[in-house]
Amino acid sequence: MTLSAERHAAHDPDDFAGTLDNRPLLLVDADEVLLRFVERLERYLESQGLLLRLDSFRLSGNIFTRDSGAPVPPAHTKGLISDFFDACVDDIDAVPDAAAALDRLSGAYRIAILSNVPARCRDRRAAALAGHGMAFPVLANSGEKGPVVRSLADRTQGPVVFIDDLPPQVSSVAAHAPETHRIHSVADPRLARLIGKAEHAHIRLDDWTALEAHLFGLLA
Ligand SMILES: [Mg+2]
Repeated sequence: MTLSAERHAAHDPDDFAGTLDNRPLLLVDADEVLLRFVERLERYLESQGLLLRLDSFRLSGNIFTRDSGAPVPPAHTKGLISDFFDACVDDIDAVPDAAAALDRLSGAYRIAILSNVPARCRDRRAAALAGHGMAFPVLANSGEKGPVVRSLADRTQGPVVFIDDLPPQVSSVAAHAPETHRIHSVADPRLARLIGKAEHAHIRLDDWTALEAHLFGLLA
């Protein structure tokens, strides 16, 4: 297998599952857990003459035309986010301390980044994360994360830990893989203030110093 084929295979959920052993598996979301998604999205929207108002914990309904103040119809949100990924996926800053924490954790955990990045942007996202010092397999998902977490949990002998900023994803994983340890984490302080702990999370931790301590504590 060539090096590039190997790298590609590492990002395929099935191939990744085939490499699992009895080490605990840590599945980490990217946007707003490892990467400062909203901050970069705001700048992108500004470049498009739009404005994101962080009045509630959602994007849809919170995007406005800067000049007229008119709300962008929620039906347009998906298209905007899709365009954002094409334009900016490899230009998003890392969340402080994330890379160093994952590096230290990588001796004890198998780590994969489970991201709802569009499949066409997966390699760019993996390269960007590697550039930030987070060279881990990037599993590109779409929609609910519960089913893929279920299939990975079925193929590992160790415990599974899941981290995400979105409560519906935490709930999805709780429904499909109830044995997982679920952590709710929101990196952006402005977003973090808008939302409490996700109902189906075991714990809410917003910074990587606390996350690292908790993740090492789970092994004890
Ligand atoms: Mg996210």
